[in-house]
Amino acid sequence: MPSIFSHAIFATFVGGALTRAKVPVRFWVLTACCAMLPDADVAGFAFGFSYGSLFGHRGITHSIAFALIVGVAIGVFAFRGSRAGLGTTALITYFTLVTLSHPLLDMMTDGGLGVALFAPFSDRRYFLPWRPIEVSPIGIRFFSQRGLEVLESEMIWVWLPALVLLLAAWLYRKGSAWLR
Ligand SMILES: [Zn+2]
Repeated sequence: MPSIFSHAIFATFVGGALTRAKVPVRFWVLTACCAMLPDADVAGFAFGFSYGSLFGHRGITHSIAFALIVGVAIGVFAFRGSRAGLGTTALITYFTLVTLSHPLLDMMTDGGLGVALFAPFSDRRYFLPWRPIEVSPIGIRFFSQRGLEVLESEMIWVWLPALVLLLAAWLYRKGSAWLR
């Protein structure tokens, strides 16, 4: 995985670029949580599941099916009363994509096993053909040399593109408001 924080930062920045409506704080908290949630599967190690099993790391919680279930659950239940300025379908789509951003970033890392994107229907593990992000070993110490290397790689390949997108969207909105 990229480190858990980078997943949250990526989703929040890209979410910020895509979202025009004024949304409650809950929306951003859930964005960060959904982006990190798939790595809850490391708890599987404590229950004796091996890395490569369905309930192991990068298994079922990193699948499209899981992202869809999370997206539907949040889209339907988390914004009852206040729709955050967005329709249920938009919320479901958004939170599914946020959760899915996690395995997609994992698929761009240079280590570990691939991601079981099509679990539970297939246990095949996938990577993208392009894998520039240095993998963050589980339980890495961030203040070690290796930790800094991982952080640097994540800043370049995860934080920076997301930040550029966020700034571009902000400038575009400012520009179009100014032209009006
Ligand atoms: Zn992961």
